[in-house]
Amino acid sequence: MSDCIFCKIVQKEIPSEIVYEDQELMAFKDIQPLAPVHIVIIPKVHLRSVNDITPENEPLVGRLFGVVRRLAEEFEVNESGYRVVSNMGTDGGQIVGHLHFHLLGGQALNARIG
Ligand code: 5GP
Ligand code: ZN
Repeated sequence: MSDCIFCKIVQKEIPSEIVYEDQELMAFKDIQPLAPVHIVIIPKVHLRSVNDITPENEPLVGRLFGVVRRLAEEFEVNESGYRVVSNMGTDGGQIVGHLHFHLLGGQALNARIG
Protein backbone atom coordinates (compact mmCIF):
# COMPACT_ATOMS: atom_id res chain seq x y z
CA MET A 1 0.00 0.00 0.00
CA SER A 2 2.00 2.94 -1.30
CA ASP A 3 -0.01 5.68 0.44
CA CYS A 4 -0.35 3.97 3.82
CA ILE A 5 1.47 5.80 6.61
CA PHE A 6 2.04 2.63 8.66
CA CYS A 7 3.39 0.75 5.61
CA LYS A 8 5.81 3.67 5.24
CA ILE A 9 6.82 3.26 8.89
CA VAL A 10 7.36 -0.47 8.22
CA GLN A 11 9.55 0.42 5.21
CA LYS A 12 11.36 3.02 7.38
CA GLU A 13 10.41 5.70 4.86
CA ILE A 14 8.93 7.59 7.81
CA PRO A 15 10.92 7.64 11.04
CA SER A 16 9.32 6.31 14.20
CA GLU A 17 10.40 5.32 17.67
CA ILE A 18 10.39 1.55 17.20
CA VAL A 19 10.15 -0.45 20.42
CA TYR A 20 9.74 -3.92 18.88
CA GLU A 21 10.32 -5.45 15.47
CA ASP A 22 10.48 -8.90 13.95
CA GLN A 23 9.83 -10.25 10.47
CA GLU A 24 6.07 -9.90 10.70
CA LEU A 25 5.31 -7.41 13.46
CA MET A 26 6.31 -3.93 14.53
CA ALA A 27 5.58 -1.71 17.54
CA PHE A 28 6.35 1.99 17.82
CA LYS A 29 5.46 4.92 20.06
CA ASP A 30 2.36 6.85 19.05
CA ILE A 31 3.26 10.27 17.69
CA GLN A 32 0.45 11.90 19.71
CA PRO A 33 0.42 9.92 22.94
CA LEU A 34 -2.85 9.86 24.86
CA ALA A 35 -1.25 8.32 27.96
CA PRO A 36 2.28 8.08 29.44
CA VAL A 37 2.61 4.71 27.67
CA HIS A 38 1.05 4.74 24.20
CA ILE A 39 2.42 2.17 21.80
CA VAL A 40 1.00 1.13 18.43
CA ILE A 41 1.44 -2.54 17.49
CA ILE A 42 0.92 -3.61 13.88
CA PRO A 43 1.35 -6.56 11.57
CA LYS A 44 3.73 -5.55 8.78
CA VAL A 45 1.33 -6.92 6.19
CA HIS A 46 -1.26 -4.36 5.14
CA LEU A 47 -4.60 -5.43 6.60
CA ARG A 48 -7.10 -2.60 6.76
CA SER A 49 -8.70 -3.43 10.10
CA VAL A 50 -9.95 -6.23 12.34
CA ASN A 51 -12.49 -6.91 9.57
CA ASP A 52 -9.63 -8.05 7.31
CA ILE A 53 -8.36 -10.73 9.71
CA THR A 54 -8.77 -14.12 8.05
CA PRO A 55 -8.16 -17.61 9.49
CA GLU A 56 -4.77 -17.53 7.72
CA ASN A 57 -3.55 -14.53 9.69
CA GLU A 58 -5.21 -15.33 13.02
CA PRO A 59 -1.95 -16.93 14.30
CA LEU A 60 -0.15 -13.68 13.46
CA VAL A 61 -2.69 -11.67 15.45
CA GLY A 62 -2.32 -14.14 18.31
CA ARG A 63 1.43 -13.60 18.24
CA LEU A 64 0.84 -9.84 18.16
CA PHE A 65 -0.89 -10.16 21.52
CA GLY A 66 2.18 -11.92 22.86
CA VAL A 67 4.13 -8.81 21.87
CA VAL A 68 1.53 -6.65 23.64
CA ARG A 69 2.01 -8.65 26.83
CA ARG A 70 5.79 -8.42 26.68
CA LEU A 71 5.68 -4.66 25.96
CA ALA A 72 3.34 -4.19 28.93
CA GLU A 73 6.01 -5.86 31.06
CA GLU A 74 8.86 -3.90 29.50
CA PHE A 75 7.07 -0.57 30.00
CA GLU A 76 6.05 -1.65 33.50
CA VAL A 77 2.29 -1.31 33.17
CA ASN A 78 1.53 -5.02 33.44
CA GLU A 79 0.73 -4.78 37.15
CA SER A 80 -0.86 -1.32 37.29
CA GLY A 81 -3.05 -2.13 34.29
CA TYR A 82 -3.43 -1.04 30.71
CA ARG A 83 -5.83 -0.99 27.78
CA VAL A 84 -5.56 -2.55 24.31
CA VAL A 85 -7.73 -0.90 21.67
CA SER A 86 -8.28 -1.41 17.96
CA ASN A 87 -10.47 1.19 16.28
CA MET A 88 -12.40 0.00 13.23
CA GLY A 89 -14.10 2.14 10.62
CA THR A 90 -15.93 5.44 10.92
CA ASP A 91 -17.90 4.80 14.09
CA GLY A 92 -14.86 3.18 15.69
CA GLY A 93 -12.85 6.34 15.04
CA GLN A 94 -10.24 4.63 12.89
CA ILE A 95 -7.97 7.20 11.22
CA VAL A 96 -5.13 5.07 9.86
CA GLY A 97 -6.39 2.29 7.57
CA HIS A 98 -3.76 -0.30 8.52
CA LEU A 99 -4.71 -2.75 11.28
CA HIS A 100 -3.22 -1.62 14.56
CA PHE A 101 -3.64 -2.05 18.28
CA HIS A 102 -3.07 0.71 20.81
CA LEU A 103 -1.41 -0.19 24.11
CA LEU A 104 -2.30 2.53 26.62
CA GLY A 105 -1.19 2.77 30.22
CA GLY A 106 0.82 4.55 32.86
CA GLN A 107 -2.18 6.36 34.34
CA ALA A 108 -5.76 5.59 35.33
CA LEU A 109 -7.63 5.62 32.04
CA ASN A 110 -11.10 7.04 31.51
CA ALA A 111 -13.52 4.17 32.04
CA ARG A 112 -15.85 5.40 29.29
CA ILE A 113 -16.09 3.08 26.32
CA GLY A 114 -18.23 5.02 23.83
P1 5GP B 1 -6.57 5.33 14.93
O1 5GP B 1 -6.53 5.07 13.46
O2 5GP B 1 -6.71 4.09 15.75
O3 5GP B 1 -7.65 6.32 15.29
O4 5GP B 1 -5.26 6.04 15.39
C1 5GP B 1 -4.09 6.07 14.64
C2 5GP B 1 -2.96 6.48 15.57
O5 5GP B 1 -1.77 6.56 14.82
C3 5GP B 1 -3.15 7.84 16.26
O6 5GP B 1 -3.08 7.66 17.67
C4 5GP B 1 -2.01 8.68 15.73
O7 5GP B 1 -1.46 9.56 16.70
C5 5GP B 1 -0.99 7.63 15.28
N1 5GP B 1 -0.17 8.08 14.17
C6 5GP B 1 -0.60 8.64 13.02
N2 5GP B 1 0.43 8.91 12.21
C7 5GP B 1 1.55 8.53 12.87
C8 5GP B 1 2.95 8.56 12.54
O8 5GP B 1 3.38 9.03 11.47
N3 5GP B 1 3.82 8.08 13.45
C9 5GP B 1 3.39 7.57 14.65
N4 5GP B 1 4.34 7.12 15.48
N5 5GP B 1 2.09 7.51 14.99
C10 5GP B 1 1.18 7.98 14.12
ZN1 ZN C 1 -0.39 -0.26 5.45
